[in-house]
Amino acid sequence: MARGSNQGEPTDWVTRAADDAIRHARQTGPEDRLITCASGASPSGPIHLGNLREFLTVHFVAEEIRRRGHAVRHLHSWDDFDRFRKVPAGVDPSWSEHIGRPLSAVPDPWDCHPSWAEHFKEPLQHALRELGVEMEEVSQTERYRAGAYTEQVLHAIRHRDDIERVLAQHRTKKVEPVAESEEEAAALADSVADAEDEVTASGSGDLARFPYKPYCRQCGRDTVEVTAYDDDSTDLAYTCSSCGYAGTTNVATEHEGKLVWKVDWPMRWMVEGVDFEPAGLDHMTPGSSYTVGKDVVKRVFDFRAPSSATYAFVGVAGMQKMSSSRGGVPTAADALQVLEAPILRWLYVRRQPKQAFNVDFGAEVVRLYDEWDALARKAANPDKRDAQVLAFERASATAAAGRLPTPKVVVPFRQLSSVADVTAGSAELVSRIVGEVGYAHDSVDDLQPRLGRAMTWTADYVPESERTTVRATPDEDRLAALDEDEELWLAQLLDRLPDEPDADELTTLIYGVPKLGRGLGLDDPPTDEVKADQKRFFRLLYQLLVSAERGPRLPTLFLALGSEKVRSLLRPPAT
Ligand SMILES: [Zn+2]
Repeated sequence: MARGSNQGEPTDWVTRAADDAIRHARQTGPEDRLITCASGASPSGPIHLGNLREFLTVHFVAEEIRRRGHAVRHLHSWDDFDRFRKVPAGVDPSWSEHIGRPLSAVPDPWDCHPSWAEHFKEPLQHALRELGVEMEEVSQTERYRAGAYTEQVLHAIRHRDDIERVLAQHRTKKVEPVAESEEEAAALADSVADAEDEVTASGSGDLARFPYKPYCRQCGRDTVEVTAYDDDSTDLAYTCSSCGYAGTTNVATEHEGKLVWKVDWPMRWMVEGVDFEPAGLDHMTPGSSYTVGKDVVKRVFDFRAPSSATYAFVGVAGMQKMSSSRGGVPTAADALQVLEAPILRWLYVRRQPKQAFNVDFGAEVVRLYDEWDALARKAANPDKRDAQVLAFERASATAAAGRLPTPKVVVPFRQLSSVADVTAGSAELVSRIVGEVGYAHDSVDDLQPRLGRAMTWTADYVPESERTTVRATPDEDRLAALDEDEELWLAQLLDRLPDEPDADELTTLIYGVPKLGRGLGLDDPPTDEVKADQKRFFRLLYQLLVSAERGPRLPTLFLALGSEKVRSLLRPPAT
């Protein structure tokens, strides 16, 4: 028995989008029709964190519909029958010969996949599995080549005058979208390029805006001009401006082309029975593909456009250290190197799609984990269930995968990264120190998947200037310049430093040494003078151990270095 959203339950954008999708399904089919939430992506390059919003927006809505007990699928279309448009930087310029061919027919320049399209699909598919996203994937190359749309293609061609009337209306209404950022401007320029590709789509005269375009049989490119079409035989004649080929394809029996984008998209809404499909801002402006598609699907394919959501751009921040080495296009896989899967999901579910946000790889990561851990504590209390907790639940689990992996023993990310920083390497050592500073656990695994991410983040994203570099050799100059107080403090510290101290012992000792200097005991409360001495003493220790004025907590640093190493760096030169 399907249920709606209950009264008193918290609601969010996912709740409302699911309501809309269910309503669309009821209005366009029988009560028990399978509800389809669709996403689409062109595998033309690395699928970055902005594109990920397309996938996750649909995923969350499909999950909500499933939670309510309806039959639902997340259908993902790979638009790999789209043309290869330009050779990106870093790829052999000779790949320009493939411009105009379908992405699925362009070879993989890195030689690891069967095609350009597969090369860029695979890493995202992998990341989506880790994110708990399950989808029914279709390749538009396979669909078109198999003739899955032939009936609709012929229908569109028969109604090409109607289509042209709709497109013409929108052409005159077209308003140039205003970009709010450089990145946005680049994406909009791309979508304008898409639109312009289509204007030059086909032939001349009454064939000028023919809605279907074959790939050239000889060279495989879409640089063709339709020269004749016979409505009775469905023979389409064309010439290719790239290779000079002139020939004929039969639209009914030979599946060599595709509908132009603004007809292709609405055609698929009808064929697949799409009830919900979001789109980026660039597809939602007047004259853009969703707006036009809405009219095309109604007037030509007699179907109602799916309910939708417009999503804003996702930017990135804190990538300074990475940008030069990786080309600065972070993907979901990059984000999963530093964020637990539920936290990455949370970034996309906690805000309405129309809100832009950044995925920040810098210092903000630490704050994000703190915020997440605080929300997890709140979510554990059923009395506190609200929209924030609802977002937490959506981020944490899926119907099929259940709860996504989080650490058995939750240690603050800031603590793990700080220990990873000073130990510079071994997970076992981090685990041991973290255990000693108050986070009891049985094995390294209890700290995963967070520990590995903290180690990666510290190594790859914390700028050198913020890293802790333990001195390899004693600072002879500083040791030779110790004043009387400093000499006494170090002597008392070294005198009492155990070989295998625990964190409590170290804390008492490090804070206590300046007390001894003032005639107090290690456990006495500090006086104002002692507090001033402690500041000087701690700074001295940082100078001598890590050549800095500050650093990680000293007991943690001592544990990480071990007493032998500490002694070697703090012992004044023999006089
Ligand atoms: Zn050709």
